Amino acid sequence: MAKPIIVQKFGGSSVANVDRIKAVAQRICETKTKKNNIVVVVSALGDTTDDLVELAAKISEHPPEREMDMLMSTGEQISCALVAMAVKELGHDAVSFTGAQVGILTDDTHTKAKIQKIGARAIRKALKENKIVIVAGFQGVTKDNEITTLGRGGSDLTAVALAFAINAKVCEIFTDVEGIYTTDPRIVREAKKIKEITFDEMLEMASLGAQVMQPRSIEVARRFNIPLHVRSSFSKEEGTMIVKNTQKLEDISVIGITCNKAEAKITICGVQDKPGVAAEIFTQISKAGVMVDTIVQNVGYARQTDISFTVLKSDLAKALKATNAIAEKLKTGEVLHDKNIARISIVGSGMRSHRGVAAKMFQTLAEHEVNIDMITTSDISVSCIIEQSQAEKAVKALHKVFNLEG
Ligand code: ASP
Ligand code: MG
Repeated sequence: MAKPIIVQKFGGSSVANVDRIKAVAQRICETKTKKNNIVVVVSALGDTTDDLVELAAKISEHPPEREMDMLMSTGEQISCALVAMAVKELGHDAVSFTGAQVGILTDDTHTKAKIQKIGARAIRKALKENKIVIVAGFQGVTKDNEITTLGRGGSDLTAVALAFAINAKVCEIFTDVEGIYTTDPRIVREAKKIKEITFDEMLEMASLGAQVMQPRSIEVARRFNIPLHVRSSFSKEEGTMIVKNTQKLEDISVIGITCNKAEAKITICGVQDKPGVAAEIFTQISKAGVMVDTIVQNVGYARQTDISFTVLKSDLAKALKATNAIAEKLKTGEVLHDKNIARISIVGSGMRSHRGVAAKMFQTLAEHEVNIDMITTSDISVSCIIEQSQAEKAVKALHKVFNLEG
């Protein structure tokens, strides 16, 4: 029978400098025993990718995306070679590969390509030769041999996809925090590490602003039921297991609270209340390449209504341009925008069987004099858009009310 395979992914901060690379190599060698095989996925050293993006911006205002992929993919190529050398120094056999070399085939959407297929032949061959395999994360290749990247944070996706392709028993995501916390420990000192969380909950937390893993990678892990272990490369502590079902006690309704300040709000006043208007507005915004999140439309009055929605702050300029154009065409009232907002969300699959969770959230915000601007819900989360300056206060209060301090 083939030996069980463990996939270990190390993020940028875990391989930020020579000492860290040596420490990671040590850790890899400790995990490798006679009874298992290791496949490692690495991110670029420290902030390399950001630095490369900045460098390109100094040369060109709109660098071609193909060339951006050529550029950004070099970061991970450096780190995988260095980690392979460091492992070899410790007396284990190792070999590094780029995404293309291990057959990570993607579509041709440069800078956010989707994985279509993974060959993994080179990996299987190297494992048979008892080598530790080190793969450059974040990158792939199209059928026409063009280098692509998988979107920022894409090394997580490489790790999860490889874990699936080679049937690994677990995929360990090493980072600079100890795991997933009940909320951001920088906001609430009493935040606790979560032992076990479901894919659904993790996906919800990641999509709502928890920045530990790339959401796309969690989606893939959920689809193929690949257990993930998020842990620190700086300590030996167990981290957080992300699994299909957890053994939670019945009385837990909320498992975590997120706070996201990356969005801005746009409001179109005085929109005609008749069929087709919302369709027209959001078609134009989507054509401008802007993703819209929460949308709220007021009840109509005198055949008019207001429509508010949120977009990423980084897309605000593009979104405003498109919105102003459509507002002019539809002869609506003013277009307003507000950058000083925060999205505060409570997440937990226990909400499916608990009543009054949303009411408790609103009550708590009211007691702390936090005004709610917009509300959205899913079956396992409730989000409120509030004024940004009140975000910390709100998160602290909710963390306490939902008993997350343990
Ligand atoms: N280096 C890439 C980034 O910073 C990929 C990754 O770190 O996962 O986005
Ligand atoms: Mg990175």
